[in-house]
Amino acid sequence: MSNPLAPNWLNQPADVNAVDEKVWPRHTKRRATGELEIAGVAVSELTTQFGTPLYVIDEDDFRARATAARNALTDAAKKIGTEAKVYYASKAFLSTEIVGWIDELGLNIDVASGGELAAALAGGIDANRIGLHGNNKSLFEIGRAVTAGVGAIVIDSEIEIERIASAAGAQDKVQGVRLRVNTGVHANTHDFLATAREDQKFGIALADAAALVAKIRSHSHLKFLGLHQHVGSQIYAVEGFVESTKRLIELHAQLLAGGEIPEINLGGGFGINYKPGDKAPNIGYFADAITAIVAEECAKHKISVPKLAFEPGRFIAGNPGITLYNVGTIKEVKVTDGASPAVRKYVSVDGGMSDNARPALYEAEYHTLLASRSSDAAPALSRVVGKHCESGDIVVRNDYLPADVQPNDLLAVAATGAYCYSLSSNYNFLTRPPVVAVRNGQARLIIRGETEADLFSRDLKYQATQKNEKS
Ligand SMILES: *Cc1c(COP(=O)(O)O)cnc(C)c1O
Repeated sequence: MSNPLAPNWLNQPADVNAVDEKVWPRHTKRRATGELEIAGVAVSELTTQFGTPLYVIDEDDFRARATAARNALTDAAKKIGTEAKVYYASKAFLSTEIVGWIDELGLNIDVASGGELAAALAGGIDANRIGLHGNNKSLFEIGRAVTAGVGAIVIDSEIEIERIASAAGAQDKVQGVRLRVNTGVHANTHDFLATAREDQKFGIALADAAALVAKIRSHSHLKFLGLHQHVGSQIYAVEGFVESTKRLIELHAQLLAGGEIPEINLGGGFGINYKPGDKAPNIGYFADAITAIVAEECAKHKISVPKLAFEPGRFIAGNPGITLYNVGTIKEVKVTDGASPAVRKYVSVDGGMSDNARPALYEAEYHTLLASRSSDAAPALSRVVGKHCESGDIVVRNDYLPADVQPNDLLAVAATGAYCYSLSSNYNFLTRPPVVAVRNGQARLIIRGETEADLFSRDLKYQATQKNEKS
């Protein structure tokens, strides 16, 4: 009998041990022993060596998805007679190791702060392949970007025109800039035409763009590369993307009267599958629909097709990453406030909102499997929660686990490669987990786990006391 607490979208799995290939890293499988392996490495080997919680990245899968994004977007651009620059939106997941992969695969990289810029530069990618955006870049961040020679800075408000021009002028450089426009379309809501989306902090209004572009063009130390949009994240339906692109091309066409504009940046936000029931379109579907509207609108306005730029983040990093946790406590909680009394099973793991803030932040839903063994037990509706002092500290709000899940079992949570490590915190003084890359049966630590010494490294009294004890 089904649990009345199960949400409508959640199907009870026919096989609670099954590995759904559309959510898990490409090289995930269940061994004959029942245990999961990623890229040839058993999860128990990983946790024995690196502990739990643990972020694991299937390196070849990450590389394959980066390549797939690059190819789909550049091929679609080619079909309409132009080129595409593909930027990896690094805020999804960034480390110097990842920068190396992105660089090797010929993608560019998008950063949103001085720290992300430092990581990209330290990772060794050429500065002209870096784009810097953000709605409130400091003078220091702007100066650093100009000094490093980043290819593009995305202007997000009028005052940044002067700030960037003066930084470039001081170094006698010409800095490439884009202008972020808020088209009023938000592509991941159902009513994507709702103009309510004007009410947010990013970009400048369509109506104000022409004056600002004229201002940019008046500065000899700035080169206007083109307009920029980013219409949302975790987008499944292309219609909002298409509508926004239409508005941006119309503006682009008007602005051509004042001079050439080589490029247009259409942003990222391509959705992925987090749960077995999800139906994210292939990136080729977005690429074809977006380039088709670009070609159509350019023909309509009788202009040549500019070079295109795109910024996928989650599409590349999301599915190749998983998190492994150890089960600590389990509770059956009676829930009597619904139509019929029910029991919800709370499975507590040794991490939580500090390593995955998205359920608390966005009510994001995830999928989990018992990873250290398979089970013949019936599927039981479960809620996987963390160990933090917050009732909103949920890792997997709704999913089925085998009814015999027990302490010391390992759980794997799928699709945690994007916006988990990058949003992680030390809440409750938990140490942030390590990140390990797996490939061809080998595990390689790319970010070590935090230690207690790391936690107190900035606490001055702690440092002074420790020093006294030592001397
Ligand atoms: C976050 C962000 C992206 C990437 O979004 P995804 O949903 O990860 O693809 C792209 N462009 C900009 C400007 C962003 O802020």
